[in-house]
Amino acid sequence: MMDNESLKTLFFETYHGEEIVNCIQCGSCTASCPLASMMDYGPRQLFALAREGFMQDVLSANTMWFCVSCYGCTVKCPRDISITDHMYALKKMAIKHDLKNPKSKMPMMYKSFSDPVKKFGKITDTSVIFRYAFFHPIDIMKNSRLAFNLAKKNRLEILIHPIKNLKGFKKVMTKALELEKK
Ligand code: SF4
Ligand code: SF4
Repeated sequence: MMDNESLKTLFFETYHGEEIVNCIQCGSCTASCPLASMMDYGPRQLFALAREGFMQDVLSANTMWFCVSCYGCTVKCPRDISITDHMYALKKMAIKHDLKNPKSKMPMMYKSFSDPVKKFGKITDTSVIFRYAFFHPIDIMKNSRLAFNLAKKNRLEILIHPIKNLKGFKKVMTKALELEKK
């Protein structure tokens, strides 16, 4: 893994993280976050660590992977810090530079969602589950009874039918990915 100083420079300069120096550590973000209790560090602590250069701890944390992009923190921040965008940026940085915590299952869960969207324009339960199961079969086996019960009630969509105008959707995706690289 890159050293802390290089990671901080990368986050601040390439991923626009520098605005977190304006954080006054008021804690409104963490107090308004519905997932804070599940996170290794709430957004306030995460930014404190990043600001002091403990970027390896930041990138090993589950915080950004648990963020559900509700924007509650961003709305509450008295310093107008784009907290949710920084959560996205940290995820993107972790994936692009292969800085993910190898023990964390969350990046694979994200990929299991994004792959079918790229391919079919949508997800179904099974399209996500099959991808995730390939890497974490025991997790899926633990939920097999639930899956079975859902299937019995016809609540598990087995076949995936792509969206209408998939070609148009893929064009939009390609353009979005191009813009992201700029
Ligand atoms: S709400 Fe804004 S200023 Fe307050 S701790 Fe969170 S990021 Fe910092
Ligand atoms: S956007 Fe993410 S970090 Fe912010 S409050 Fe919602 S879940 Fe928490």
